[in-house]
Amino acid sequence: MKSWDAIVVGGGIIGLSLAISLRKHGLRVLVVERGQPGGEASSAAAGMLVGSGLESPPALKPLSKESARMYPEFVHELEDESGMKVDLRDQGTILVSPEADLPDWAELIPPNRLQAFEPELVSTSSAAYVAERSVDPRALSAASLKAARHHGVDISSGTEVTAVLTSGDRVTGIETDKTTYPAGTVVNCAGAWAGCVGRLKFPIRPVKGQMLALVGSPALKHVVRAHNIYLVPRSDGRLVIGSTLEDAGYNKQTSPDTIQQLLQDALELVPRLAEAKIHDDWAGLRPATPDALPILGQTAVQGYFVASGHYRDGILLAPVTAQLVTELVLGKPSIHDLTPFSPARFG
Ligand SMILES: Cc1cc2nc3c(=O)[nH]c(=O)nc-3n(C[C@H](O)[C@H](O)[C@H](O)COP(=O)(O)OP(=O)(O)OC[C@H]3O[C@@H](n4cnc5c(N)ncnc54)[C@H](O)[C@@H]3O)c2cc1C
Repeated sequence: MKSWDAIVVGGGIIGLSLAISLRKHGLRVLVVERGQPGGEASSAAAGMLVGSGLESPPALKPLSKESARMYPEFVHELEDESGMKVDLRDQGTILVSPEADLPDWAELIPPNRLQAFEPELVSTSSAAYVAERSVDPRALSAASLKAARHHGVDISSGTEVTAVLTSGDRVTGIETDKTTYPAGTVVNCAGAWAGCVGRLKFPIRPVKGQMLALVGSPALKHVVRAHNIYLVPRSDGRLVIGSTLEDAGYNKQTSPDTIQQLLQDALELVPRLAEAKIHDDWAGLRPATPDALPILGQTAVQGYFVASGHYRDGILLAPVTAQLVTELVLGKPSIHDLTPFSPARFG
């Protein structure tokens, strides 16, 4: 019977990138995914790589910065190993906001230069440029799945983990809706559902975000972010618009009124979007914690780790999370202080 050194619960971008990293360090890895790998938050995201950590708690900034730095290499390897394109764009982001709200380190765009920068954007009194990238999360998830298989990671899709098995204070494997799998290391990467896996509970809740994509819109070069809305262009011509922040439990339905409101807000920034058509709309569930920081580390059960709760930054934080959690699993020291992310902080 086949056996594994590590089992990763959840095949989102966090689980897949961790699985690849563990496998590259020689571990035999199984990913157990209830639905389709990448089918939840990791495919719903906008894909902005906010390396400045602009909207995140200060404790997250060093990891955000480091992960943004790692991204080009991370994508390059995935593209190489999967043979797929991931659409990492580095045209940068324009922040549109009252001047007092713009970060002082961002490069102010003089009003008379804004049209030259992004011709379709409505003239506005204050905007700034930040050198942040974006990525297509669906392409990223698909490439990660293919790269994981390429490396020999085993993937069990359509399999729900129903319990984390322990003996004394050590993890011994997992139970699924079909069978049990033994392993000395288990990592909970179940995103917004991480608090429901096994007996150890973590205060992770789903925060719903609704999004839509337009086709046939005038091409934007940059990501555009205002206080209530963001517009993220893809290289295939789609324009992704988002998003809401809703406490709606595990409900992933979109509401026509909300989608229309997002479109209306986008039209105020780029009036010529009126010529575009809605291609599709969707909602995803961000895994949120009470302090808006991810949970990264070993639990009170030896060999049982958590890598979840990445809230609005899980696409950005995938490379650094994979590296840090690999170090933890292998018992290697880290240059980062992970105390703020410890599972123990919630008691
Ligand atoms: C609308 C929206 C916009 C976003 N925009 C951005 C952005 O611009 N930039 C950014 O960096 N981040 C963004 N995010 C956040 C990002 O999508 C998440 O932080 C990230 O995808 C979390 O990845 P994950 O792998 O932890 O979770 P998920 O992708 O949700 O994966 C968790 C997986 O675990 C599986 N699972 C759950 N329970 C079980 C079980 N019992 N057994 C087996 N499998 C299980 C699920 O089926 C799921 O596939 C956005 C999110 C949303 C919703």
